[in-house]
Amino acid sequence: MTGSTGTSPARRVLVVEDERTIAEAVAARLRAEGFEVALAADGPGAVEAARRIRPDAVVLDVMLPGFDGLEVCRRIQAERPVPVLMLTARDDETDLLVGLAVGADDYLTKPFSMRELTARVHALLRRASRVPAPEPDLLRLGDLEINVAERRVHRAGREAHLTPTEFDLLVHLAARPRTVLPRERLLADVWGWADASGTRTVDSHIKGLRRKLGADLIRTVHGVGYALEVAR
Ligand code: CA
Repeated sequence: MTGSTGTSPARRVLVVEDERTIAEAVAARLRAEGFEVALAADGPGAVEAARRIRPDAVVLDVMLPGFDGLEVCRRIQAERPVPVLMLTARDDETDLLVGLAVGADDYLTKPFSMRELTARVHALLRRASRVPAPEPDLLRLGDLEINVAERRVHRAGREAHLTPTEFDLLVHLAARPRTVLPRERLLADVWGWADASGTRTVDSHIKGLRRKLGADLIRTVHGVGYALEVAR
């Protein structure tokens, strides 16, 4: 921890939503929570705003004019990693997005309460700003190499490009190799959620890690959780 006790500058959230009533309600609530809020109402405008204001977090609707939230997420993340909360219209849409692994950190299905939305945004920012635990700078497990200080991952000599959340999840699993970690615990430790309502979020990020690092790396223990499996 640093010794700074000064007031930190307001954190910026970019809200991307073409439905004006929702956009304004979300913005008003986030402003009331002390955030600086910028709004964008279409795909190109969102990418441009992200470049200009460098937000600390993005709340991103999927269905947008111009190009959709998936494309916005890809473009924003390609320029500068930032935590993204995706707003979806239906649960099955969330499943689809999870399968596409677009690099969002969390999903929220409409209709949602403002209370839930702000809780998720706070959790995103908490994770993003968390001072990393004193881990070894370099974790070597079989052919997996994690450079914690540089946040880089290689498997069998090939670099994998992980989202910030995927990286944190991997480090958690790698800190206790071959140990089964319950999904609820991962949700609490990596995402900072106290309740288990978002365990599907864990599943989606596991899916992303398997896609990028190999399906054999993480074992599913049905009904319990996940374990990192590496050669001794
Ligand atoms: Ca929309």
